[in-house]
Amino acid sequence: MRHFLLSLFIPLAITLSSCDRNNNFVMMAPEEDAALGKQLSEQILSQPEQYQVLDPDEYPESYAYLRNIVQTILESGEVVYKEEFPWKVYIVKDDQTLNAFATPGGYIFVYTGLIKFLEKESDLAGVIGHEIAHADLRHASRQIQKAQGLNFVLSLILGENNNALGEIAAQLAGHLAGLQFSREYEQEADARSVEYLAQTSYPCSAAASFFQKLQQEEKQGRTPTFLSTHPSPENRVKEILAHSQQLGCDTTSTSSGAYQEFQNSLP
Ligand SMILES: [Zn+2]
Repeated sequence: MRHFLLSLFIPLAITLSSCDRNNNFVMMAPEEDAALGKQLSEQILSQPEQYQVLDPDEYPESYAYLRNIVQTILESGEVVYKEEFPWKVYIVKDDQTLNAFATPGGYIFVYTGLIKFLEKESDLAGVIGHEIAHADLRHASRQIQKAQGLNFVLSLILGENNNALGEIAAQLAGHLAGLQFSREYEQEADARSVEYLAQTSYPCSAAASFFQKLQQEEKQGRTPTFLSTHPSPENRVKEILAHSQQLGCDTTSTSSGAYQEFQNSLP
């Protein structure tokens, strides 16, 4: 463990004072995002009572369908860390949870509840675009840096705090599905989702239809998890549509029967 952590921190020193490729000041190097994400995803996979992750070998068609959505977005040409991050996707069996989340470094977890709740592939693409954006914009790393302070990150780099990363990983794994990002980060992720999808065949405003559907749920007195951990969807719908208009990208939606087959392929 000690060696793993040490080897994790060595590259940090080299990249200390530089901005990342999104022009944000992030002390952690992208490799650390990927390493932290790997550690987190392993923790998640080792807690089947909390995260019942479907085995890709048992559900090859479901995974092929989902990976195709992820791949389509990655190939938009807009994902900055497309090559550096591993971009793995997992399906969590939980029909009651309308949620998806991504670890640093792009390990994406999508709940069956969300997949079954949505009606079209593009709706899901909008959400996945949003999650890819959180990882690509390195929101979790920036949040850790902000919350814990630069001294904390420095103590990681200098190797004075070898247990800290493991602790962060444990905390993130415990709260990841409910990890609260700032309003600013949520807006950034929404805007990036539009920009990614604009370069694909999906309607670029697809993330908005997800929020519209959530609003309908809320009106019926049910508050989905995603809503309790994310800012009010009303303004977000407006902002997503405004950003789409600004870009002049295609917002027309087509539905495909294949999405229903995908839903039916899940347990
Ligand atoms: Zn979000």
